[in-house]
Amino acid sequence: MTQSWFYKRLGNGLGTKILRTWLVYSPTKGAAYCFCCLLFARADGHNSALTSSQGFTKWKNIERMDAHENAPSHRACFADWKELERNLRTNSAIDIEVQSVYATEKQKWRYVLSRISHCIKFLATQNLPLRGHRENQCEDVGNIGNFLGLMKLVANFDPIIKDHMTRVSGKSGLDVLSGV
Ligand SMILES: [Zn+2]
Repeated sequence: MTQSWFYKRLGNGLGTKILRTWLVYSPTKGAAYCFCCLLFARADGHNSALTSSQGFTKWKNIERMDAHENAPSHRACFADWKELERNLRTNSAIDIEVQSVYATEKQKWRYVLSRISHCIKFLATQNLPLRGHRENQCEDVGNIGNFLGLMKLVANFDPIIKDHMTRVSGKSGLDVLSGV
């Protein structure tokens, strides 16, 4: 794989080169792949090494890359890719509501994670253990530990953490992660 293969040369006599944005190379596999065909391929699309799991490694048959680039199925996948890219950029994708929910959820988890990491960092710098005798924060008996105690304290002043603590109370770590 050489750098020049990432460019398509136009036969206009001017030596114009166009970057093949669809072409990706995997150093691990030592093979080239077509990004858009892998993502948007249809069942009736043509098969080529650039879309196979092994990837394109026939470096002596580089003209096959041109053939792939000119194939109708590749052009269709390329158009789908660019259309999706444009829609995402202008926020006009049909699943805009779903995306907005994802964005809100992402922001919330970043917020929660940031508070959790600050609590852990604080306890670590104070050389304090995180665990207590009982880790079920619902039980008001026994020592729930510095970490959960601190989180409960934060929850008193922070509605997002309060909501999070209410949702995860009584669940194990795995339950929380799987959203049960
Ligand atoms: Zn392709």
